[in-house]
Amino acid sequence: MNPNHLQDSDYVAGSAGDVLRLIRSSDAMSRSTLARTTGLAPSTVSLRVEALVALGLVREQGTEDSRGGRRARRLALAGDAGFVAGVDVGANHVRVVLSDLAGRVLADSDTDATRAVGVSEDPAETVDALWAAINELAAVAGLDPDRFRGAAIGIPAPIEYPSGRVVTPSFRPTWHEADLPGLFARHTPAPVLVENDANLIALYESTERGRTDENQLLAIKIGTRIGCGILASGRLHRGIGGAAGEISHMAVAGESVIACTCGVPNCLDSVASGGAIAAKLRALGLDAAGASDVVALGARGEPLALDALREAGAMIGQSLAGIVNFFNPREVVLAGSMSASLPLVAAIRAELFQKCLPLVAHDLEVRATRDARVAGIRGATLLALDEVLAPARIDALLRETADDVRTA
Ligand SMILES: [Zn+2]
Repeated sequence: MNPNHLQDSDYVAGSAGDVLRLIRSSDAMSRSTLARTTGLAPSTVSLRVEALVALGLVREQGTEDSRGGRRARRLALAGDAGFVAGVDVGANHVRVVLSDLAGRVLADSDTDATRAVGVSEDPAETVDALWAAINELAAVAGLDPDRFRGAAIGIPAPIEYPSGRVVTPSFRPTWHEADLPGLFARHTPAPVLVENDANLIALYESTERGRTDENQLLAIKIGTRIGCGILASGRLHRGIGGAAGEISHMAVAGESVIACTCGVPNCLDSVASGGAIAAKLRALGLDAAGASDVVALGARGEPLALDALREAGAMIGQSLAGIVNFFNPREVVLAGSMSASLPLVAAIRAELFQKCLPLVAHDLEVRATRDARVAGIRGATLLALDEVLAPARIDALLRETADDVRTA
């Protein structure tokens, strides 16, 4: 069992961890509601709740409703029982956000840190810098460092599952096979998950409709490179080894304008990513250093930029159409810096709806992410919380506590 993915482990229905999961899922949970939902005897529910209260994870407060009889006390997750870090690592910018166990933001490196966190060529050096940043932010927010419960880190690269190893990252080739969870283990015993950045955007978008079987979604991150996160029946679909959604190196009908390490001639990344469009515009004599310049040129109506954006959008839309026909999602969510380009998004939509089967297009919504500025970091926070509060982890914690009591 990988110690860093207990949220994907089986747990016993009706265990204390399962009861905590139910308490997290509703803000109107009482002991009697729990007994009805789980089918457990009221005395067993009380044992579970008292164990969670003893761990400091649950509080009883207020009233559930006032429909006569005895007033039921409402059960709630004790948000201040700890904190987690969500980390978004980009090619040029790192953001760290600390949140309590209820997901309330406590500190944000974009506004509260004294200095920026750098991403160096050396993953070990970067992990040291990230750990220092987490501790600096905790100090700023007045948090007890002992209450750090875990972290999740988004990286723009394929991530091996469940080990969390970085594989062939084009944003930092020296990070190939970097074991960030292992490097963090030198600083903390708490779980630290590494996840593909597009997967985290898919997770953030999943909260819109709830994580139900109805929730089938593709999150496409279009920035310097192109990535895709898959949400199937409300859960992240990573594939066996973590490579699911790696659409960036599919061969397309255009021509490469930048080099790519994948070896596939004319892959989507090298033809239609923000980096590729920028290179194409530079070759035409325009001043376009990166993806954001391309978006700006398009917004100004620069004809050469508009042509390049429409062409790239058609190529991305064509690649997506095959996947969308195969997967039949409810939503395709576009994110990343290039999703701010209206001509690009319009071209993707047009191509998608033209190429999709009627049955697939009927229920399909293609939209921009709800908030491009926070999608990745909120997704990281959600993943970290799901991990530190995973039923299997809570049950293991209770077993350890019981063993400590027995051996004391
Ligand atoms: Zn490639």
